[in-house]
Amino acid sequence: MTKKIGLDHVHAIAPYVGGRPISEVAREFGLDESAIVKLASNENPLGMPTSAKEAMLRAANDLGRYPDSNGFELKRVLSKRLGVPEDWITLGNGSNDILELTARAVAHAGDAVVFSKHAFAVYPLATQAIGAKAVEVAADASYGHDLPAMLQTIRSLGETAKLVFVANPNNPTGSYLQPKAIEAFISEMPAHVVVVLDEAYNEYLSPEQRYDAIAWVKKYPNLVVSRSFSKAYGLAGLRIGYGIAQPHLTDLLNRIRQPFNVNSLAQAAAIAALGDEAFLQQGYELNRAGYQQLTQAFEQMGLTYLPSSGNFVLVKVGDDDEAGARVNRELLKRGVIVRPVGNYGLPQWLRISIGLPEENTICIQALGAILSKPQGTA
Ligand code: PMP
Repeated sequence: MTKKIGLDHVHAIAPYVGGRPISEVAREFGLDESAIVKLASNENPLGMPTSAKEAMLRAANDLGRYPDSNGFELKRVLSKRLGVPEDWITLGNGSNDILELTARAVAHAGDAVVFSKHAFAVYPLATQAIGAKAVEVAADASYGHDLPAMLQTIRSLGETAKLVFVANPNNPTGSYLQPKAIEAFISEMPAHVVVVLDEAYNEYLSPEQRYDAIAWVKKYPNLVVSRSFSKAYGLAGLRIGYGIAQPHLTDLLNRIRQPFNVNSLAQAAAIAALGDEAFLQQGYELNRAGYQQLTQAFEQMGLTYLPSSGNFVLVKVGDDDEAGARVNRELLKRGVIVRPVGNYGLPQWLRISIGLPEENTICIQALGAILSKPQGTA
């Protein structure tokens, strides 16, 4: 018999399940790829900005060379935009990279990492990958983070608590935390605990919801704010994001990242996308309208949904714990890919990314057709 290889804590990890690719669903259900609507990965329905595509094509001439390991140009632009020096910025292979780098830089086996129930799936992954203990805190009544309970849990963990993840807005619930509550949480955090404020969907916040997280980074030496180019900037396939933190913390992340973790096409595209205000605004407005379209339809169908501040909505499609999986399968048959969220402890719900108006319509019609049949026979 061969000896088991691999660490126990790695064996214990449940692999990340992403949105199913269009090609895979087409093969499985015998559908034409062009007839499939994918609203499963919170991608930007506008695709990538043309400005970014052009910048990327220009950068393609230099692909024989390694990327700029320090991301000089992009950091310069971000530094100006954010009002922090370059050495406060870490570039990541997606903001996912920033989450993992932070976990690796501040915690190891035996330490505790805290996050909310129904929070983004990468938090437990990043925690378990380093052999640390994932401590999940019950959500509040509206499925959002219960920050006071999280703080209390951290205090009770004492020195073993090293890191806490907070998502605003959170995925998959779309829940939004009031800035006052976030700052109170950070200000009361024990000094040895690092807070990651994950703002992957920040650009979708309404003007009234906006707040100045950079001011908090300047004030609190144990805060990392992570942001993404995958959502509002439409660059999910290129994998690029960034973290903002004071230099002592940024230095740690930079020490352990791969030297060339962000490829040169991604760097060039991100610079162009940052300068493309029109694309950002168009995406924002499209998202607002799509949110209205989807949630009005849910109301007409008598479906419960959670108010969302992101580019997706969580909707309850039945009362039994098979409902999400069952309705998801029926949607797939009709060429609509959404995200079942049983792995988030939400088996009665589906997460639907907000798409183009016509994509939303197809999804609404399919959902209406499925749910109008008696449940269980759908
Ligand atoms: N944080 C949250 C809350 C997310 O939903 C996602 C993407 N699903 C990420 C971070 C990571 O995104 P990326 O690595 O593409 O920047």
